[in-house]
Amino acid sequence: MNLTAKVLTGMLLGIVVGLTINLTQANITGSFINEYIVNGLFYVTGKMFVNSLKMLVVPLVLFSLICGVCGIGDIKLLGRIGSKSFILYILTTAIAIATAILIAAGLEIGKGMNAATDATFAATKAPPIAEVLISIVPSNPIQAMANGEMLSIIFFAILVGVSILLVGKKAKGLVATIELLNEVMMKMVGVIMSVAPYAVFCLLAKAISELGMDLLAQLAGYVLVLIAALLIHLFVTLQAVLFIFSRLNPVIFLRKMRNAQIFAFSTSSSNATIPVTLRTVTEKLGVNNSVASFTVPFGATINMDGTAIMQGVATVFIANVYNVDLGLTGYLTVIVMSVLASIGTAGVPGVGLIMLSMVFAQVGLPVEGIGLILGVDRLLDMIRTAVNITGDAAVSTIVAKSEGKLNIDIFNDPNAGNLDTNPIHIDDESNQEIAQTVRKTHDS
Ligand code: ASP
Repeated sequence: MNLTAKVLTGMLLGIVVGLTINLTQANITGSFINEYIVNGLFYVTGKMFVNSLKMLVVPLVLFSLICGVCGIGDIKLLGRIGSKSFILYILTTAIAIATAILIAAGLEIGKGMNAATDATFAATKAPPIAEVLISIVPSNPIQAMANGEMLSIIFFAILVGVSILLVGKKAKGLVATIELLNEVMMKMVGVIMSVAPYAVFCLLAKAISELGMDLLAQLAGYVLVLIAALLIHLFVTLQAVLFIFSRLNPVIFLRKMRNAQIFAFSTSSSNATIPVTLRTVTEKLGVNNSVASFTVPFGATINMDGTAIMQGVATVFIANVYNVDLGLTGYLTVIVMSVLASIGTAGVPGVGLIMLSMVFAQVGLPVEGIGLILGVDRLLDMIRTAVNITGDAAVSTIVAKSEGKLNIDIFNDPNAGNLDTNPIHIDDESNQEIAQTVRKTHDS
């Protein structure tokens, strides 16, 4: 079995085991399964895996983006890649939320439902645009890296890259070193991916075993409409956008995205999935690192199509439950607010709900309403994260194609970038050489 097949098997087995535990209610507090399996083995293995992905994000983004900027070598081109991807990200997010509102409003979801809920949700105020803009420039880059503030890291990395270009020939050695560091980090992604099938199994078995099935059934209208809107965006809108702007085959694109989607689905975090998305986009889809190193982390932060769809469906749902008529202006405000909120927030689990509270506060919907959908959000978060990263990859591919930075042979090659064609192999002879060099330097 190749790695993709193994990851897929891990995912399916995880879902089956999770469902079995869930439906047989073997997961009651204090039971062996709850203590040692779900919150023991599954939890620890899954968390360790997500941590190991997160561990790679900052160094990978930093090194690959510095290499990317040096690789472009032309500041004007950098500006074009930045503006094209920004416009496409905003455009796809706006289409996503508009479609969601239309579908949900057309089906009148939530009409006649009871608004009673015990769950509460505290409102979060949207950060003022001025603050979001200011935070792009880090006053302390180390702190920004420690906190994983993606926009600040991107800003710093671009500035380092540009300055290296300005230093010119003298910086050749430094560029070679950063390129090597980037290669080492990419190898590390491969090493971590080799345990992915087991980790994906554990992550999914735990998440599915804890889903509240009763609540899912109660909110079936909301859940099904949201899933349908997400799937329409994934399979129709994004693929149409990809085809219209780049004339590339959407079927090939979707097939190559499967692995990264499973990672996003299992981790519920676009940020944690950055290493896998970056590798998929460069090695499987053929996007040059000079484009991908910018568009992928940028997209993980500002582009959240799936999350925007959730904002749209949830707004209509809760407005209907509370009998509030938002009107056209209300819905337009929702669209603008959701797009803005997605720019200022990171792709981490559950952030969609926080964004939703910002939107509700703006249009005057009761924030307690979020309590209604809180219980089913775990599963929906998984699905929308997979949609989010697919949007990042689609835009990266379009921008690369438009700038002549897409290797079409790699895009069309079904085996390109498969980990199995590039296995982790240990070269004893060269390792001995490295060890000897280190020893010699040490002795002298
Ligand atoms: N978990 C999502 C992401 O990381 C964000 C969300 O919708 O909550 O992209």
